[in-house]
Formats: sequence, structure tokens, C-alpha cells
Amino acid sequence: MEKQKAPVQKNQMITLVFEDMTHEGNGVGKIKGYPVFVPYGLPGETAKVKVIKVKKNFAIGKLIDIDNQSTDRVEPPCNVYYQCGGCQLQHMSYKLQKEMKHAQVVNVMKKIGHIEEVLVHPTIGMDDPWRYRNKVQIPVAEKNGELITGFYRKKSHDIIEGMDRCIITSELNDRMVEAVRSIAERLGIPAYDEKTHRGVLRHIMVRTGEMTDETMIVIVTRTKELPNKKALVNEIKETYPNVTSIMQNINKDRTNVILGKETRLLAGESYIHDKIGDITFAISAKSFYQVNPTQTKQLYNKALEYAQLTGEETVIDAYCGIGTISLFLAQQAKKVYGVEVVGEAIADAKENAKLNQMENAEFVVGQAEKVMPWWTAQGLKPDVIVVDPPRKGCDEALLEAMLTMKPERIVYVSCNPSTLARDLRILEDGGYKTKEVQPVDMFPQTNHVECVALIELK
Ligand code: SAH
Repeated sequence: MEKQKAPVQKNQMITLVFEDMTHEGNGVGKIKGYPVFVPYGLPGETAKVKVIKVKKNFAIGKLIDIDNQSTDRVEPPCNVYYQCGGCQLQHMSYKLQKEMKHAQVVNVMKKIGHIEEVLVHPTIGMDDPWRYRNKVQIPVAEKNGELITGFYRKKSHDIIEGMDRCIITSELNDRMVEAVRSIAERLGIPAYDEKTHRGVLRHIMVRTGEMTDETMIVIVTRTKELPNKKALVNEIKETYPNVTSIMQNINKDRTNVILGKETRLLAGESYIHDKIGDITFAISAKSFYQVNPTQTKQLYNKALEYAQLTGEETVIDAYCGIGTISLFLAQQAKKVYGVEVVGEAIADAKENAKLNQMENAEFVVGQAEKVMPWWTAQGLKPDVIVVDPPRKGCDEALLEAMLTMKPERIVYVSCNPSTLARDLRILEDGGYKTKEVQPVDMFPQTNHVECVALIELK
């Protein structure tokens, strides 16, 4: 058979009409039915595009010039937007961002989940979709004897210079990064060098409790030793009373993973507090905590609404982290069991139950897919199960365990619509029906979307 040839060649200049957008936010245009994906192209626009990569089934192009700008095109407010890989959607209106995320969820429900009739609500967005992040982890390097901080240039490990702020991060966190950088520089603390695997200071992590303004600083170092540690800690403490926790995390490995195994307390407490609704949470350095507090409240309220609790129910919260959703549910359930694989997070969860004087929540460390069958063997019969897995979705053994436990309702919180749709198919085949899905915009300006889905026994 004759090999099909792509209708475009590398380096060719073409005129393209964008008909659609990918989940990543790239424009899609077609040449004789053959798709060309172009970063920053918006539906409805006609543009001059340079073909930069040609594959059998598609090509990638670079946007050179736009003939007719979409009314949804906006000037990105961040001055390093096109260099940084952190945000992908700053060039489009917030309205289009929300529509695009909704369309993505509808699309994967059909294409991956083969679920046709499910109700997908419009995306719940933010009134002000900027400065929302409560946590930042920023790499440190050295240039001409000075310490620099900033995110990496797209697809590289070169720090973008002159990046003095990140406008999706809270202003307080931005200021704290700069404060720690300048104090460390003055004290001559050397930056870590990835290439030689020498030096000390790898990352500065800052997390702030939105409702309390308590700030945790985590100094991530390659070595146990932190030169001028005392002076560093004292200066931070004295200058910034909002800093209630200073930690050192030691990461000795050649790795892209930011935090290492060992975390030490340098000053204050080993956690900060935040409040969501009426519940207070203690959060330690290594525990997962949602990064957008405003939208977290929306998300958890939706999960609580979908759980339809009357006070009589036994509930399981799998992948429970520090017990955030568990304690939200415990306000209206008879008993909540939480399971989570990170030991520090379960310690926080237990602490949080005490902190809020909630005696009807119990927490276990372990892999949810192993603990759930064990619970079944113990005779535990949940009325409602809530899951909130990482991007890769639920483990198959966990889906099996849920089908065995047969709760009336499952509430699935997901940060990845594709794995959500995949898992919903398995639950549908096991006797459940997906009732509705609510996308929540937890990460404005980026191409990520969070969902909460209600699934009921048929
Ligand atoms: N529901 C929590 C945490 C969600 S993030 C919240 O909203 O804050 C997902 C959590 O799943 C993380 O805390 C992660 O450590 C945990 N996790 C990952 N794999 C797991 C597994 N196999 N079993 C149990 N927990 C797991």
C-alpha cells in the first residue's frame, strides 16, 4: 500500500483557519482534513502559520501573524507568559477558558467514558481569576554571583530572569519568596547547581493560610548543612511575623522531584492553619492541600451536596489527604472513614479532627486499594464513598472494592477529566449511573480542570 503523505512540509508557510481547540488550549486548523495544532491560535481566527513539525497524522505549527483576531483574544497580563510554561490560557478571555473546560469535560464523557446523556454543568469560575494560589515552589540558581529565583523557561531548566512576580500566586507568597531570596543572598548561602549537583539551596517553598495569613517557609537544600542557618531563620522571623513555621527539607538526589524525604523544623510550628467554611485545618509541609482556597470551598460544598447526607450515613473518603473532605462530610454524617497513603497527611488529619472536636472521623494510613477490601472484610458497609485520586485516577482494585461495597452513592472528585471518564465507564458497567458532573475552575489561566461527579446505584 502506498504510504500516505502529509499535505504540508516542515518550514512551509501556510494560511490556516482555526476551527477548534485542543484540551491543552492549542488552536486546531485543517489542511485537506489533516489537522495542524498551533499554540495560541483561537477558534475563528485565520492566521499565517509556519509548520515546524510534521507527523503522519498531524502537524505542529507556530503562529506567525493573525489576520482577524478573535474577540476572545486578550493581552496576557504577565510579562513572561510566552516564555514560562506555568500558564497556558492567558491569551484568551476568562469566559472562553471556562467554556473550553466545560467542552473538554463533555467531550471526554462521550469519547472516553461512552456516557452520552450525562448532565455537565457550566464551569464554576472565579470572580477574580488571578492571585489565587496559596502555595509556590520556586527554583533557585546563581547568576553572576547573585541568587536568582523564577520559574523555568518552557521545556527547559533555565530560570526566566526578571521574573519578579507570578500573578496567579498570592501577593504575600510572592513577597515572601523575594524576602527569603534576598536574605539568603546577603548571607552568602550558595544556590544548588543542577549540572554539577553541588551547592545548597534548591527551592524556596511558601504556603500561606488564606484565612489566617499564617505562612510556612520551606528551605529545600541538597545538604543537611545549611550555612548561616541561625541568621537566616532569625532574620525571617524578626522581619516577617506572619511566618509561623520555618522548615528545612533535605533533597540529596539528582531529581526533578522538589521535596526530599527528610523535613526538619527550624522555627515555629511544623504546620500552618487555614480555614475552609467552619473547619480549621493544620497543614504540614509534605501534605497535599488544595492550592486555590476560594474554589476549594465551592468544590467541597458541591461534594457535600452530592453526598446528600442526613446524619445517619457511614461514609468513606478515599485519598483523603489531611482529611479536608472527610471533616466537611463529618459535619453531616454519622461516621466518616478516611484513607491516605502519606503518613504525615494522616497525622495532620487526626490532628484536624481533634482541632475541630469532631469525634466521628477515623483515619488510616495505607493504599486505598488495599485498605478498602480490608474494611469490607471487617464488615464495614458505607452508604456513600467519596474518592479524590491523583491525576492517574482510581486504581482498578479500588474501583472493584467500591463495586463490592455497593454504596448508594459515589462522589468522585477529579483533577483529570480523562481518567474520570475512564473510571466512570467501569462504574457504569458495574451497575452505577453517572447523574451529573460539575466542572470547577480551580486553576484559572492554566489548562487544568477539576470536576466533581455524582454517581448512583441503578
Ligand atoms: N481529598 C484531599 C486530597 C486529594 S489529593 C483534599 O482535597 O485535600 C490526592 C491524595 O491521594 C494525596 O494526598 C495523595 O497522597 C493520595 N494518594 C495517592 N495515591 C494513593 C493511594 N494509592 N492510596 C491512598 N491515597 C493516595
